Amino acid sequence: MRNEVTHWTLAETCRHLEAGDCCSVELVEALLAVIAERDPLIHSYIYLNAEEALDAAREADASRAAGKGGRLLGVPIAVKDVLNVRGQPCRCGSRILKGYTAPYDATVIARLRAEGAIFLGRTNMDEFAMGSTTENSAEGPTRNPWNLERVPGGSSGGSAAAVAAGEALAALGSDTGGSVRQPAAFCGCTGLKPTYGLLSRYGLVAYASSLDQVGTLTKDVEDAALLLSVMAGRDPHDSTSLDTPSVHYSAVEGFDLRGLRLGLPKEYFEGGMEWEVERTIQAAIAVCRELGAEIREVSLPHTALAIPTYYLIACAEASTNLARYDGVRYGYRTPDAADVETLHSRTRAEGFGREVKRRIILGTYALSRGYYEEYYGRAQRVRTLIRRDFEEAFRNCDALLTPTTPTAAYPLGERVEDPLRMYLGDVYTVPANLAGLCGLTVPCGFTKELLPVGLQMLGPALGESVLFRVGGAFQKATAWHRQRPPFPVAGSAR
Ligand code: GLN
Repeated sequence: MRNEVTHWTLAETCRHLEAGDCCSVELVEALLAVIAERDPLIHSYIYLNAEEALDAAREADASRAAGKGGRLLGVPIAVKDVLNVRGQPCRCGSRILKGYTAPYDATVIARLRAEGAIFLGRTNMDEFAMGSTTENSAEGPTRNPWNLERVPGGSSGGSAAAVAAGEALAALGSDTGGSVRQPAAFCGCTGLKPTYGLLSRYGLVAYASSLDQVGTLTKDVEDAALLLSVMAGRDPHDSTSLDTPSVHYSAVEGFDLRGLRLGLPKEYFEGGMEWEVERTIQAAIAVCRELGAEIREVSLPHTALAIPTYYLIACAEASTNLARYDGVRYGYRTPDAADVETLHSRTRAEGFGREVKRRIILGTYALSRGYYEEYYGRAQRVRTLIRRDFEEAFRNCDALLTPTTPTAAYPLGERVEDPLRMYLGDVYTVPANLAGLCGLTVPCGFTKELLPVGLQMLGPALGESVLFRVGGAFQKATAWHRQRPPFPVAGSAR
């Protein structure tokens, strides 16, 4: 069972549970065994909820025997350390939240729980979701299951690595500027960033509130559609959540792409991409064309401004969101501070890591009097231009096809000392967050070093169904998403 489980999708797991081929307790035990074997090398999890998960599995099995249902009854899911799950630690990969236990469920968690899901453990992440490699975690880095010397991407690197390594059937992440899609691409998973507002942010620890969105890391598009169907919908606790009718998303219908117009933003293909990524993306585009899609070139003229605009806005919002960690209300508190000022400053100096401090300083500067208009105000205006670029493009096409990242996974340590270079790797993912759109990445091939490459599909706001149609048809025509890293894996950490 243990080896089989590493390959199962959520949908397959549900079918096995329903058919009585296995029970939830066996499932959780099998996953725990895989984790015990592999995670000492990969380090996807920073907290395991083993006993409670087994109890919940026993309860789920009893409910099933009593004839009760639930779309995810008895199905374990891994959760990025940024979402509150009642009774579990929620530390955001930071020292400053040491000792903090979530007193409530995030809305997306409550909705999964209501359908019977079990929360197996917390996955590693860059501190407060700031980073692209998971190296900024206070808990130490996660490694890429395809090659242990490479980064898994970030900031949801623990979630992506867990799914890729067969240590989780599916996982939740958050995507502020690519943190679901980029690690999914680096680890060979399917990653979905829904439209801003489609999923509630209540209980998601805030990084940059106008950009943050919960997302999924799964083995295929069908599972992404399943999780989204369960979690989507208006939440009175989040005033930015959209009042959409409940939709049953699906990726199962449709084998071809006839009648769809897919755009290639020409600015995304004008250099900067590694040639192996380019080769793989071109082959994936050819598959979509063979499936009947009409491929056309479009232009997003303000693409070059997306990175500076994103980092300004994200840092500005982060600097205010992170003001709440003062040593009084949450987690870590410096010992023996003589007065309140020392308490605040020492707690923050000791509790936050380097990248988080860098961003708080940048963001505070950008918001300070005399500079606000020059930096933050201007970034907001450019954001509008970027959004309009997409509106224009979606007049002529139904979705866009782009690479997810300019390179495949790079070696650990390569970019930690060079933040600008790390930021540039987000070039294809941040525009969707700035414009509030939806994005999906699917595995579409490998480099010659056997590292996965991701194809990104971008849709208009609330265009998830189109993404599922394109991604679903692509996965029916290809087998990239079914590849699993060999275990034991390549790399010196063996
Ligand atoms: N890498 C980007 C950043 O560091 C995106 C992170 C994210 O989406 N949370 O801000």
